[in-house]
Amino acid sequence: MNNLLIQAESYFDGRQNHSAGPYLFTLTNGIIRDICVLLPGDGVPAIQATTPRLHTAFVMPGLVEAHCHLFLDGSELDLARRKDYLNAGRSQMLGTGRVNLAANLAVGITLIRDAGDIHGINTHLKEEITHASGVVPELRSPGRAIRKTGRYGSFMALEVRDAESIERTIESLAPTADDLKILLTGIIDFENGCVKGPVQFDLEETRLIVRTARRLSLKTYAHCNGPEGLNIAVEAGIDSIEHGFFMEPDIVKKMADKGTAWVPTFAPVYFQFARPDVTKWNPSTLDKLHAILQNHFHNVAGAAAKGVPVVAGSDAGSYGVPHGTGLIDELLFLRQAGLTVEQVLSAATSVPRQLWNAPPANVAVGQTANFIGLAGSPFKDINSLRQIQLICRNGEVVKSDGTSQIVASTVFSKGN
Ligand SMILES: [Zn+2]
Repeated sequence: MNNLLIQAESYFDGRQNHSAGPYLFTLTNGIIRDICVLLPGDGVPAIQATTPRLHTAFVMPGLVEAHCHLFLDGSELDLARRKDYLNAGRSQMLGTGRVNLAANLAVGITLIRDAGDIHGINTHLKEEITHASGVVPELRSPGRAIRKTGRYGSFMALEVRDAESIERTIESLAPTADDLKILLTGIIDFENGCVKGPVQFDLEETRLIVRTARRLSLKTYAHCNGPEGLNIAVEAGIDSIEHGFFMEPDIVKKMADKGTAWVPTFAPVYFQFARPDVTKWNPSTLDKLHAILQNHFHNVAGAAAKGVPVVAGSDAGSYGVPHGTGLIDELLFLRQAGLTVEQVLSAATSVPRQLWNAPPANVAVGQTANFIGLAGSPFKDINSLRQIQLICRNGEVVKSDGTSQIVASTVFSKGN
């Protein structure tokens, strides 16, 4: 038996807050064996007196980043360097991806869903992770996404032309993909406050994409902005809308009825608005950006209220969105939109895990210990999400100082 105790003032179990602590978590061989309230004057049972004990203020499941591009460095703000990087060699991109994985883990992200790269760095990293020792995040990868020939998304998507190539391409992606990523529309035209270009796929084509993906047991998530594309995505049965700017209340209602998830990715658009010193937008464009963001805040709040599964994803790797801290910013945007703290934390824990049929990471007796410790409760101050103290992954505990050094382990080392 390999035991470890963790003491915390309060905890979020993946659905709700528990604030009648302090609590003592007993971990045995990587599993949460017991959660008990420490009462004043409680005697210390023999097992507790001799077992190592770590202290933290707040425990919650490891975070989920639902939308990022691991091969891109979002903190690189030099546009010429970003452009050159797209022709960098594979080894440089793998290096960037490894650094980004570490940046995700350092803020407490233990499950990542990559959102596509044309080089398949994401799939390579996923393979690497399966052989890695120590504490590493879990990774879901689509490999390459799909887009219509000649349309937006060359850095992340293969081109498809017609029904035949749609089916053939999805079949070629399926063996190594966890999900299918689709580019359904263009990007936002910030200067004109609209979506660039027509939709990439019409309803019939999108239905074929969804049908083909389902036949191959792949869930679908679509880069999609603007009412025309959003209506097609929801109607065709896409599982998750990514970005979803220019949302409308009647589409939100349909999403709630069908259980369509939404990953609103505030962070990259907020950067465009908040950093005119970098983006060089003029006042008129900044007004458009402000209106786009206000509308987005409003619709995300409406979606959460109607029961749409809202999921946290930052689009890290995009311009101005660094890996790791980008997701924490995104959680603060969700809070700013008006989601409750429970809804915000669920959006980055239990909700995506359930939608993706991923192993649960709830903080509950009998579960594998896959949680993080913060220096304060987000229920008292949401900024506590920035104060990570420890990461426990399958019973191994590391401190968040970037070293990933194991400070305690309830897992027998390999070979024992
Ligand atoms: Zn993206």
